[in-house]
Amino acid sequence: MLWLTECLSCHNYLYHLGDGRLKCSKCNKKRSKERINKIITLIYAFINNESALQTSKRVHISYVSVHSYFNVFRLFCASIAEEEYELRRHNECEYEEYFYIQESKKHKKEAIFDAYNFLTFDYNTHIYTLLMPSLKQYKQQFLEDSVEGAYIEEFHRFKRQSYIIKVKKRYNNIVEFWDYFEKYIRIYKGVDDKSFIYFLKEFEFKYNHTKEEAVELLIKKYFKE
Ligand SMILES: [Zn+2]
Repeated sequence: MLWLTECLSCHNYLYHLGDGRLKCSKCNKKRSKERINKIITLIYAFINNESALQTSKRVHISYVSVHSYFNVFRLFCASIAEEEYELRRHNECEYEEYFYIQESKKHKKEAIFDAYNFLTFDYNTHIYTLLMPSLKQYKQQFLEDSVEGAYIEEFHRFKRQSYIIKVKKRYNNIVEFWDYFEKYIRIYKGVDDKSFIYFLKEFEFKYNHTKEEAVELLIKKYFKE
């Protein structure tokens, strides 16, 4: 394993200390093998879409601990996604608008107000998402106005339109990302509003990279921070 011979921060040669730790010949950082092993195992589980609960049972680390590591990895995904966007933002791209409604809310008539609206940009097969402001603030007013008939009509029109967009663009990279996102967000049952952006970024990051790349990027990021 590379991490036994190479410093994860600066890639220089490592000494194996008598107490089982590794010491970098250049930056002098000391780390325990157990700790590195634990972090890398958790990064693999996260990238393989294993839930915090499953992981916690498999590797015998408390659920709370795995959960908080996964939150850190998710923040890293968001931060790497922004860095990668910075490199591409001046390039040409295509984009589409998307409304995501959680499975459990799809049948409610006021579901549109709980939808997450995000723009999806395709920079030559590299996806970037931008979350738009929520429509929630209009929900109460709408319910009070009780203009249900008009509302339902509008909602059907909206659903038809998003379907048309999907069909027209059937095989492009943006639609592929939406399908991917809809499929994997289900792992997390009920994401709260404040965290949604991080879950979106998690899957943007995973979609843009092979598993090997993703693991390597997170390892680099983790040991750099
Ligand atoms: Zn080093």
